[in-house]
Formats: sequence, structure tokens, C-alpha cells
Amino acid sequence: MHCPFCRNPDSRVIDSRAADDGAAIRRRRSCPECGRRFTTQEAVLQMVAKRSGVTEPFSREKIIAGVRRACQGRPVDEDALAQLGHQVEEAIRATGGAEIGSHEIGLAILGPLRELDEVAYLRFASVYRGFESLEDFEKEIESLRGAAPPGA
Ligand SMILES: [Zn+2]
Repeated sequence: MHCPFCRNPDSRVIDSRAADDGAAIRRRRSCPECGRRFTTQEAVLQMVAKRSGVTEPFSREKIIAGVRRACQGRPVDEDALAQLGHQVEEAIRATGGAEIGSHEIGLAILGPLRELDEVAYLRFASVYRGFESLEDFEKEIESLRGAAPPGA
């Protein structure tokens, strides 16, 4: 890994320790060129398996972009979106899985989105769960009214 100070292409590891309860390793490095020290972190990259069969790294930005679309015209500000993105990321990280299905991502979004805005939640759920009829919407609205958990 190159030195972030002088771009020297080489650096020396002087210390390694577990971080995030063993989910990551932090390394203290020293640059033989400029002598400055910096820290790197190595962790499993959580990959999302898309329905198309393609996998890509989990991206909080992509989650937020998807939810932002569902929130169009709704009184949901960027702070709330950022917070939701953070919640989803935490939930996904907590699974510890190296590969996450788009289904799990959807579930992790639905809970906090429902708390945030019910209309946006319905829009998102209609796409994510593939609502095909008014009945599907009616059932979901009923469940919202009854404050039952999503999917009940
Ligand atoms: Zn350097």
C-alpha cells in the first residue's frame, strides 16, 4: 500500500491488531521513504447478490438512492435518509455475512422506512414485494393500521 503522505509505493507494517470485535484488522504502517506513520484497516467486503446474479459491494449510497426515489414528494429530508442508510448498514454489518441477498437488504430497509414515512414505505414495499393488485396494497395498509410488523 502506498504512503498517503509522499505516495511512496511501499510501506512497512509495524503493528497489527484486531478491531471491531475481530471483524477487522488494523495495521499501523511506517513509510520507509518519509518516515511518517499511518493506519490501514482490513475487513471482509460484504457483497450483495443481485437478482440478476451479479454481486457488488454493499453500498450505503445505493440504499439511500433507492429510498430517496420512494420518498419523492414526501416530507423526508436528507438527514433522515442518511440516518436510514446508517441503520441499514448497521443491520447488514451485524449479519456478518460475506454475501447478502437483495431480499435481506430489502427487509433491512422496510423496517426503518416504515417508521419514517408510511407512503414511501408502501411505494418501496410495492416494488420490493412485487405488489400486483389493489388487494396487495390493501393488505399492507391493513397491516400498517394494525401496527403489525412488516410481513405479518
Ligand atoms: Zn511516505
